[in-house]
Amino acid sequence: MSEIILGKVIIRGKIRLKTGLHIGAQTEAIEIGGIDNPVIKDPLTGKPYIPGSSLKGKMRSLLEKAKNAEQPEDMRGAGDGKYIGRNIGTANNPIWIHSCEDYNKAKGCEVCRLFGTSSKGSNFPARTIFRDAHLCDNQNPDEIIEIKYETGIDRITSAANPRPMERVVPGTEFEFEIVYNVEDENDKKTDLENLIKLMKMLEDDYLGGSGSRGYGKVEFAITEVVERSRDYYLGSADQNLVFSDEEGKRPEEVLLEISGKL
Ligand SMILES: [Zn+2]
Repeated sequence: MSEIILGKVIIRGKIRLKTGLHIGAQTEAIEIGGIDNPVIKDPLTGKPYIPGSSLKGKMRSLLEKAKNAEQPEDMRGAGDGKYIGRNIGTANNPIWIHSCEDYNKAKGCEVCRLFGTSSKGSNFPARTIFRDAHLCDNQNPDEIIEIKYETGIDRITSAANPRPMERVVPGTEFEFEIVYNVEDENDKKTDLENLIKLMKMLEDDYLGGSGSRGYGKVEFAITEVVERSRDYYLGSADQNLVFSDEEGKRPEEVLLEISGKL
């Protein structure tokens, strides 16, 4: 069960915000007099970005839910012994996720293969790396943050309690990069297609907080899918440009174009 690398497939493109995005920063980072709900920003540049962990977490949960629906009825749902059967939170505040308990099961599992599992038995490192998505060069960082007042209404007195919330404005574009490690040629096509299908599913879901209130609708535009074999890195082989489009194409279009080339 040692890891091998046969090659890497790199997917690049843009994430476009269709509605305002709020991915919250750690509260201890708030300056005195600062807004109480800031968006996360790169400490070096002060510009907002989308953490790779946010993309990874969201895509994992979407694939888990889709696969949960394929389970026999008595395995569905969350809890001990179920498909979504591992609590990574606490007893009082459980956070249930799917996680295969050993390496061999994880290798046969589309979720754990892509996103990894670290159960008691043996670890299966994720095959996928989600880089932080930074602002595209043409975006003016001074014009992309707005303060939105979210109002809670007291159910008894009807008093409104507006709370300021930072969010990144619609239209903003971020550059994403997802790297898939090829460890088994037989899994490559399924895994890569799953990644692109998850982009589509995420478009119909949301990223960050307050999604049920309309925040976090995004759109993916894939500009490049490039495959680099082991020989590309260690030998003299060329990379294989599986897909390229400067403007970027939608996930479902890219899926059609690359299906015969993986
Ligand atoms: Zn699994």
